[in-house]
Amino acid sequence: MFDYLIVGAGFAGAVMAERLASCDNKKVLVVESRHHIGGNTYDYYNDDGILVHKYGPHIFHTNSRDVYDYLSQFTAWRPYEHRVLASVDGMLVPIPINLNTINQLYGLKLSSLEVNNFLASKAEKKDRIITSEDVVINKVGRELYEKFFKGYTQKQWGLDPSELDASVAARIPTRNNCDNRYFTDTFQSMPLHGYTRLFERMLTHPNIKVMLGTDYKEIEGLIPYKKMIYTGPIDYFFDYCHGKLPYRSIEFRFETFETDRYQPTGTVNYPNEHPYTRVTEFKYLTGQKHIKTTVVFEHPKALGDPYYPVPRPENAELYRKYQLMANNKQNVFFTGRLATYKYYNMDQVIAQSLTLYKKIALITKNERPT
Ligand code: FAD
Ligand code: UDP
Repeated sequence: MFDYLIVGAGFAGAVMAERLASCDNKKVLVVESRHHIGGNTYDYYNDDGILVHKYGPHIFHTNSRDVYDYLSQFTAWRPYEHRVLASVDGMLVPIPINLNTINQLYGLKLSSLEVNNFLASKAEKKDRIITSEDVVINKVGRELYEKFFKGYTQKQWGLDPSELDASVAARIPTRNNCDNRYFTDTFQSMPLHGYTRLFERMLTHPNIKVMLGTDYKEIEGLIPYKKMIYTGPIDYFFDYCHGKLPYRSIEFRFETFETDRYQPTGTVNYPNEHPYTRVTEFKYLTGQKHIKTTVVFEHPKALGDPYYPVPRPENAELYRKYQLMANNKQNVFFTGRLATYKYYNMDQVIAQSLTLYKKIALITKNERPT
């Protein structure tokens, strides 16, 4: 008899498994439909011996010391600050838009103060910021919106920015300084030996068994357990009884080149040309030295593995129906990007599971006979 059946071996499930096994001595079965652990962060050495991320580039960044310290038990780190260039008007310029971007794009030599005025003169102030179009136009105006955001967002989501919540484009700030980094978080580093190794160390506890290549519905009723942690898509759990929640998918096309370097930075975004959104060269992220290099082209698509919850009001409404059912489910706990239908980064998912663990530990303590 397992104490917990944990569905999904991504960060959401692995954190729960590790905490319950090592802090509470619980017996845990992790069941994973794919043939590997790590969820969407899974990495592996390809045929040329280059470490690549199977489900697209994953860069770790967080402001949470708790999350960073927690993960540091399972990995050493390689400091890495991600920098992204966008291909706009025949140039490669920094994104998020900053002082360098504006000066390069318009052939100017503005100072920080002057760029504030420049952007203010372009911005179209909105009374209410509701959509991703609103959030960008309100800050930088229509011209920069069309150069950097409109086309990229249409490709990425299959929707116009005016059809998506403001929170999506709000992930990308605007800066009046020369900080070319994609993220400004306190902690920015990559697991020194990759994500898969990190997960192996999280899941080695003798109380944890991992069953790969198995959908949990195949074993339900066959393997006894007391409680479940569910990290898969919430609509699948409830057999789509309210209809399907939309998730955006991506086809990752990998290519290896017989050259040391392919592009000038970790990621190049293509808002306006090509069917793909961005190209990432893994060696920048991992620090690996190799005479060849592998890059991944991201081609967004509607069908396929569920990667991105789609933040817009009607989807939030549909999710709430499932959430109500989830709240009423005794002994099943939902956590992670798919099970809570939230556009979360890795650190947010880890924090969510650490919080859920604390909640469960408290419930368990109160259940114990005194
Ligand atoms: P997942 O990693 O999706 O894990 C869920 C697991 O459950 C999967 O392995 C799935 O196979 C399994 N599962 C589902 N249903 C079943 C079932 N019925 N039975 C058994 N198993 C099941 N975050 C960052 O912080 N930085 C980044 O740079 C970054 N880049 C990203 C790039 C892309 C292209 C994508 C898609 C995401 C990116 N993220 C990034 C987000 C990050 O991937 C997620 O926050 C994190 O991996 C979510 O973890 P999770 O455990 O909730 O979900
Ligand atoms: N975005 C954009 N142009 C860019 C980068 C981002 O329009 O050059 C928008 C787009 O809608 C994207 C969102 O901002 O989906 C969030 O970007 P982020 O890089 O955070 O996406 P992720 O890494 O999660 O795919």
